[in-house]
Amino acid sequence: MTILSTEIKAVITLFGATGDLAKRKLYPSLFNLFRKGFLADNFALLGTSRSAWSDEEFQANVRESIQKIAEDKDGQYDAFVKHCFYQPHDVTNPEHYDKLNDRIADLETKFGTENNRLFYMSMAPRFFGTIAANIKSQGLLSDDGFNRLVIEKPFGRDFESAKQLNKELTETFDENQIYRIDHYLGKEMVQNISALRFGNTAIESLWNHRYIDNIQVTLSEDMGVEERAGYYDQSGALRDMVQNHIMQVVAQLAMEQPLTFTDQEIREEKAKALRSLRKYTPQEAAANFVRGQYAAGDNNNDYRHEDGVDPESITETYVAAKLSFDSERWAGVPFYVRTGKLLAGKFTRVDVVFKKPLLDIFSNAANSHEQKLNQNVLTIYIDPKPGFSLTLNAKKVGQGYTTEPAMLEFFHSDEQKALSPEPYERLFHDALEGNSTNFASWSEIADAWQFVDVIRDVWDHESPEFPNYTPGTMGPKEADELLARDGREWVVK
Ligand code: NAD
Repeated sequence: MTILSTEIKAVITLFGATGDLAKRKLYPSLFNLFRKGFLADNFALLGTSRSAWSDEEFQANVRESIQKIAEDKDGQYDAFVKHCFYQPHDVTNPEHYDKLNDRIADLETKFGTENNRLFYMSMAPRFFGTIAANIKSQGLLSDDGFNRLVIEKPFGRDFESAKQLNKELTETFDENQIYRIDHYLGKEMVQNISALRFGNTAIESLWNHRYIDNIQVTLSEDMGVEERAGYYDQSGALRDMVQNHIMQVVAQLAMEQPLTFTDQEIREEKAKALRSLRKYTPQEAAANFVRGQYAAGDNNNDYRHEDGVDPESITETYVAAKLSFDSERWAGVPFYVRTGKLLAGKFTRVDVVFKKPLLDIFSNAANSHEQKLNQNVLTIYIDPKPGFSLTLNAKKVGQGYTTEPAMLEFFHSDEQKALSPEPYERLFHDALEGNSTNFASWSEIADAWQFVDVIRDVWDHESPEFPNYTPGTMGPKEADELLARDGREWVVK
């Protein structure tokens, strides 16, 4: 990991500069880094796409996008857009890269960026390999500064396509120059998992099969597919949420303590954790995965009648699964994960359910029939309100001896939330600083794809009975049965 001084020096070349992601997330993130002083004099943004825009048109678009997030204080809009430039460019035309190279070189001289180059691919994934190849063949790599590639999801559709994409990228960039975006890794509370675990003896000493009964990860969305239907129907919840975001959260929960808190060590431990995830046979996968598709509700069509969706689609809008690790730490501890659209709420959380005391000594106490001991639960709230809580058993106030749950809670204050950078801002900053802690490595991605490919293959050869869950619920009944057969239930029902 190379840590530069706090002020970052680089030319950022953005492929897909007129796209939705650039407008909604990338320009505001860069502007925030500028407002906070991480980007100052020595940087330039060179936007590219097919549209024949001038620099001035691009700057007007950037200004429009940053207006949505912050007021203009002390002429900051003007100061920022003076660093923004545009080059019309067809990524499939090798000759266009020559012009791009000239522009980058001019900006390097003008802004004193020490020849550091960051390329950001915010485009349809089918172009990623082509862009990387042209960057190399047309000589866009810097000889004496850094070269980095930030790449958007999805990283492949399955293991084979991901492997092919990785091969194409690594013909131009080394693994340590590639920053694969998974914006869940930019979330405050996902990053906080390491602090909670490795910063607290009280937590980490219990973090194993002796004390933990099961771990539940829920990424719940309350909306349907909306305008992303065309993309989503080709993808589904397994590819869109499980292979990447859920696997990344699970890896942070399951990994061993890194030797030091550096990107290489952390990524290595996450990769090892994913290697110890039991790879299911097709029969095991079928038994341990549940899929669902939403039915019509009060305010929505059923999935198959959404605009842009195949009326016979078997694409899943819901997945629940039981994962198992073949490791000493997690022997016999299931990780139950689930995600879906049009569920009961919009939230992301992790519930760590501890084992019950072996002996309930209160069972003979007066009034004890009123309350049995509950399992302790450590909940990590990732979205929308970051924080955590620990549910303990405590004596109920009054005569007799009855226990009741008592919850210790911590939530970020509004001031803390205001200070917390958006995931894209944090990740942009990390990539510019050369810190790859919060990006997915190839090894992690490969393992995650190999794990989900097995169930994808099973599902693609079977006709499910869809739709099978009601909007506003937590999914199909089979997801409850997945836990019930182990004598367990979801913490959030
Ligand atoms: P988009 O379709 O809105 O934009 C695509 C961009 O690519 C446009 O600027 C377009 O002009 C440009 N483009 C297309 N063909 C080109 C060519 N031949 N040469 C040069 N430019 C060309 O896409 P988006 O929604 O901004 O998504 C970009 C990437 O980010 C994708 O990989 C997507 O999966 C990922 N992503 C997007 C979102 C989101 O919220 N939009 C969320 C997560 C990930």
